[in-house]
Amino acid sequence: MPILTPEAPAVPAVPRARNSRLKDLYAEIQRRNPGESEFHQAVHEVLVSLAPVLERHPEFAEPGLIERLTEPERQIIFRVPWQDDSGTTHVNRGFRVEFNSALGPYKGGLRFHPSVDLGVVKFLGFEQIFKNALTGLGIGGGKGGSDFAPRGRSDAEVMRFCQSFMTELHRHLGEHTDVPAGDIGVGGREIGYLFGQYRRITNRWESGVLTGKGTAWGGSAVRTQATGYGNVLFAARMLEARGTSFEGSRVSVSGSGNVALHSIAKARELGAQVITASDSGGYVLDEKGIDLPLLQQIKETERGRISDYAQRRGAAARYVPNGSVWDVPVDVALPSATQNELDATAAVTLVRNGVRAVSEGANMPATPEAVRMLHQAGVAFGPGKAANAGGVAVSALEMRQNAGRETWPFAEVEKRLADLMHGIHDTCAGTAEAYGSPGNYALGANIAGFERVTAAMLAQGVV
Ligand code: GLU
Repeated sequence: MPILTPEAPAVPAVPRARNSRLKDLYAEIQRRNPGESEFHQAVHEVLVSLAPVLERHPEFAEPGLIERLTEPERQIIFRVPWQDDSGTTHVNRGFRVEFNSALGPYKGGLRFHPSVDLGVVKFLGFEQIFKNALTGLGIGGGKGGSDFAPRGRSDAEVMRFCQSFMTELHRHLGEHTDVPAGDIGVGGREIGYLFGQYRRITNRWESGVLTGKGTAWGGSAVRTQATGYGNVLFAARMLEARGTSFEGSRVSVSGSGNVALHSIAKARELGAQVITASDSGGYVLDEKGIDLPLLQQIKETERGRISDYAQRRGAAARYVPNGSVWDVPVDVALPSATQNELDATAAVTLVRNGVRAVSEGANMPATPEAVRMLHQAGVAFGPGKAANAGGVAVSALEMRQNAGRETWPFAEVEKRLADLMHGIHDTCAGTAEAYGSPGNYALGANIAGFERVTAAMLAQGVV
């Protein structure tokens, strides 16, 4: 095993692309978008994959094409005033970045979290373009959200916030224009309040304007489970390609939100022992396997903390406040919390402990240095824009059901999700192979997503 050391800074100043035009382009993107470090990182990760594409396909080197791809079609920033239960007024900031609609209406979630700013929304929107292109389901890329912190807020406060947010955002949405969904801090409760306000303002039953709706009023079966299930199905396919499986493996999951919970469920179904979960306070190590009903009760019903889980689980579980969940030796790691949660040090630890696969349930949870180290060590790495595409893919299936006024059964949607994830895996693997880097799913995802969206952009002219 090679000796691995963390070396490079979190966000490299210059791309390591061979192509000097890509270097100049990246420098210009940094200059024009100051302070947006996550956006720079996401763009950089794609640009470093593109040199061989531009060499092989000169049409993609057309001047202005990558410049258009990296500039959102539209960026909306707005004030979100609301009153808390005591009558105090708060002012948050709302965002929607409509990044690219060459393949379909803008599609992507809303994130409500104090860390949300324009750079975060742009990184997520940029990733979404490629992710959505990989699904092949005709959806463009967008993302939105607010620096609002739902934690500790009453249902009534969350409702007033969502209503104020939608009062502004509704004018930019539409089932053929822009279709938001959930992300961190936005689940079924928030989508319900947002949909209610949209319906009230527009006086239209336009079910396809939001996805992640309740199944009784236009939502799709499996949408809640889709991101976590999809990531495990993607990881299972990576393991299968290496002649192994989840059966009997030890798995760590970070986070304890929607993606984490359903990753735990699916990995267990495939015979794995999932032994961790986490939140911003720390992680829990449960050697007997995470008690999913208990975790769901605490996180979804009570909106509690991982420390509560450890307390209620008793001797079986060990709570490690402020610890790194990646210190736990496992066969497969599924980072499912947030961006840049798995850094170079964590990657080194995972590799030393014998990890075989890492698959991203969250968006960009592994830093570029971590990804490089995993690749160097021969670990199978599933990049988020491919591995976690199951959520948005089932959103696109929800839009189809809405358009046809249909409701598909759980088993049918689950089968379609499995086929989609296998297809995305095989597209990434095939593209990586065609470009001389077999097994490099990150490269395959970037190139395959890029080729799909830019082919459509070229066909549609300079718009
Ligand atoms: N927020 C999810 C993602 O990162 C889902 C987006 C959607 O369903 O539109 O892909």
